[in-house]
Amino acid sequence: MKFSMLPQVFAQMFKKPFTNKFPAKYQPSSTTKFLADVGTDEAKIIPPVETPEGFRGKIQYDKDKCIGCKLCIKVCPCGAIEYKEKEKKIKIYVSRCCFCAQCNDICPVDCLSMSNEFLLADTDKYSKDLIVE
Ligand code: SF4
Ligand code: SF4
Repeated sequence: MKFSMLPQVFAQMFKKPFTNKFPAKYQPSSTTKFLADVGTDEAKIIPPVETPEGFRGKIQYDKDKCIGCKLCIKVCPCGAIEYKEKEKKIKIYVSRCCFCAQCNDICPVDCLSMSNEFLLADTDKYSKDLIVE
């Protein structure tokens, strides 16, 4: 460590942490019950922080408005969007999404948007919570 860093290190020792006490502070009273309830409203974790305006969380899709133009698929850098030929609608794999929102910007009918939802950890990348269609 360089000596020039020492004042900063000492100052930091007396400051409040910048990080959230998550998930410990928000952990459910019974983890066993929580895990048993996964997939239901009972298993919702209270988010640790308010999300700022313009936050890019889990993608949302208004299927009824979609005209099947495929522009979102063309701009997606992650290959996260598939076209459902039969329905002429799309399917988004959230586990592949990098939350760039380019698909939101290009969609001519504004049927894609980014929500405030960011608690997306899952053991199955194809779980129903991580597929948007
Ligand atoms: S937000 Fe970006 S990565 Fe995610 S589906 Fe849209 S274009 Fe693809
Ligand atoms: S850009 Fe919009 S309208 Fe076109 S396929 Fe994608 S979601 Fe549907």
